[in-house]
Amino acid sequence: MKKRYVTFSKNIFIPVTNVCRNACDYCVYRARSTEDAYTVRIDQFLELLNTKLEATEALFTAGEKPELVDPNGFRNATGCSTLVEYTKELCQLALKHGLLPHSNLGVLSMEELKELRDVNASMGLMLETTAELEAHKNSPGKAPKERLKMIAAAGRLKIPFTTGLLIGIGETQEDRIRSLKAIQSLHEDYGHIQEVIIQPFTPKPFTVMEKREPPRFDEFKEVVRIARAILASEITIQVPPNLTSPVMELIELGASDLGGISEQTIDYINPESPWPGEEELRKIVAPFVLRERLPIYPGFIKKGWYSEEVRHVIERYAGEDGLRKQ
Ligand code: SF4
Repeated sequence: MKKRYVTFSKNIFIPVTNVCRNACDYCVYRARSTEDAYTVRIDQFLELLNTKLEATEALFTAGEKPELVDPNGFRNATGCSTLVEYTKELCQLALKHGLLPHSNLGVLSMEELKELRDVNASMGLMLETTAELEAHKNSPGKAPKERLKMIAAAGRLKIPFTTGLLIGIGETQEDRIRSLKAIQSLHEDYGHIQEVIIQPFTPKPFTVMEKREPPRFDEFKEVVRIARAILASEITIQVPPNLTSPVMELIELGASDLGGISEQTIDYINPESPWPGEEELRKIVAPFVLRERLPIYPGFIKKGWYSEEVRHVIERYAGEDGLRKQ
């Protein structure tokens, strides 16, 4: 069912660390050497929090299990022994400063999800695909079984959840359909999927896949169309406006969210593609009305799927319809 409005969120994007145990063939984010490695320090984060922020969301992304790659380096940089422990501290600081955390830290166990649940408004993990692909040959965390297991665990914990597909990394059309059906099936079991991102692969310099063509737009459109047909109507389909154009053709096919944009920070995963500003988005989606949402969707606010720690921040921003007060 098409909505009358198209949503987006305003975030600050915090790349907690670029140290990652995986090595995906298309990734430009991960540190290639210790010289490239960085971890956001608490003082850097506080400096960002103390600037005037329009955002409601603190989006935390990171390489997967950096503590396995360089345990001493991670402890020295953060004072913590795991990414989950450190990100929990950052989430608590974000909440204190009036921002709703959304963490996407790669594959996490049930115990790790429990640690983070109460300090996040929602969480995420891109499924990417259920197919075993060459692009993931050096990435144990991209094993589809592991990712499906985590998405199911988030469902058992009633965490409003964002997942998605990465299109054009070697998967077939049948794989895409299987992946969407797997997400839908998890949602039927737990009712926790709030949005599914359909994201195109874009080739990045100095990666194994730098010469691989991105998916054609008509092929991408077809995935959005199929996604809308397979996924339950309460699951929103998100397309990134800095990577897909013309977005309006995707909205016509049922996409109704444009993801997060940030005025203070860049898209660290796709640094070559700046986000359009809010006014530009408004023009792009007209005649649909552009509305700002929180990182937790209205349906999950209504169901009360949030903790006491998060409640006061949700109440500050959410209007009666669950979107941001106007
Ligand atoms: S898991 Fe993410 S950060 Fe790590 S190599 Fe793959 S795409 Fe890059």
